[in-house]
Amino acid sequence: MLKEPESMDECSFFTRRVLDDGTKLVAWVPKGATIVNVKYTCGECGKSGEITQEYHKPITFLCQHCGHKIVVVPLKKGRGRKKKTK
Ligand SMILES: [Zn+2]
Repeated sequence: MLKEPESMDECSFFTRRVLDDGTKLVAWVPKGATIVNVKYTCGECGKSGEITQEYHKPITFLCQHCGHKIVVVPLKKGRGRKKKTK
C-alpha cells in the first residue's frame, strides 16, 4: 500500500487530479527519486490501483484492471475551460 506524503516537503512533485475521463488520482515524486507513485481510481472500470514507475511527463499508465489508458496531462493556466489551440 502506498503511503501518501504527509507534506509537500517530502516530494518534488505532487498532484491531485480528476481527469476528463473521470479518473481520480494522486501522484507524487519523492524528493531525490526518479520514480512517480500513483494512486488512482479508474474512470473506466471504477476500480482502484497503485502504480510506481519511472517518472516521465506526461505521466501515462494503463489501468491494472481494464487496461484503460490514463494520461495525466499537465495543467494549463486558465483551467476549467477546454480550449483547443493549435
Ligand atoms: Zn480500469
